[in-house]
Parts: sequence; structure tokens; C-alpha cells
Amino acid sequence: MTYNTEFTEEELFMNIALIAHDSKKELMVQFCIAYCGILSRHNLCSTGTTGKLISEATGLNIKRFLSGPQGGDQQIASLIACNEIDLLLFFRDPLTTKTHECNEMNLLRLCDVHNIPVATNIATAEVLIHGLERGDLDWRIIANQR
Ligand code: PGA
Repeated sequence: MTYNTEFTEEELFMNIALIAHDSKKELMVQFCIAYCGILSRHNLCSTGTTGKLISEATGLNIKRFLSGPQGGDQQIASLIACNEIDLLLFFRDPLTTKTHECNEMNLLRLCDVHNIPVATNIATAEVLIHGLERGDLDWRIIANQR
């Protein structure tokens, strides 16, 4: 089987999911302001409140699901289960227990099932966003042949 490795800019879009716990939302907003130029070239989705704050601060077009505690993280998990998310940036607060923590663990488990790059803190997110810009994640498109 031969694979097409020549892609137009439009074909190189990635589906990126953004989630931030309350204490990390401001950090997520600052991250998205800093990398607005890169993020604007991709399809973005998020849990409800995270997406609202990011789009208000940046003007980025984001598909917003339900709020995390109301099932938004599970909506994103179902996309991950269908291999429809290419990158998850999930800024977690490791110091506070969440009512829906088991759902969030499942979200991360599904990323491992499908080998989806995932950052749970800003340090890794920085590495991944630079990798995204460099084309390090283009294998997702080749592997999925979309
Ligand atoms: P939210 O969900 O963006 O709707 O707040 C994230 C979370 O689970 O805290």
C-alpha cells in the first residue's frame, strides 16, 4: 500500500480538544493567546466553560461541548474513542478531587488506546504545540488517510 505524503495546508488541519480545570483556566487562556496563530489553523473543540473563556479572550472559533461536570469531557472522550481527536490539551489541577474524576481518567486512557498526543500540563503542551507547528503530528493524517 502506498500513502499520499503530499498535503495541502487545508488537509493538514488537526482536531484539537482543549479542557482546563477551574484553577488552570486562566493558564489555558494565556496559552491560547500566546499560540493563537497556530491554533487558528486547526479545528478546535472544548468543554463548555473552557471554550467560552478562550473564545472570549482570543476570538478563536471553538466548538463547545457541555461543561465538563455535565458530561462535556465524555463528549470529547467519545470523539477520542472514534479516533477523531488528534491532540488533547487538558490542563489538570492535580490538587483538587473532582466529582467526575473517573470520567477524566477514562479520557486519558482512551488517548493511550489510540496513541493520541496528550498534555496534562503547560510544559508538555508547549512541546506539543511546537511539534504540531513543525509537522511532528502529521503522521496522524497519514495514519488515518483522511
Ligand atoms: P469546563 O469543564 O470547561 O466546562 O469547566 C472542564 C472541567 O471538567 O473542569
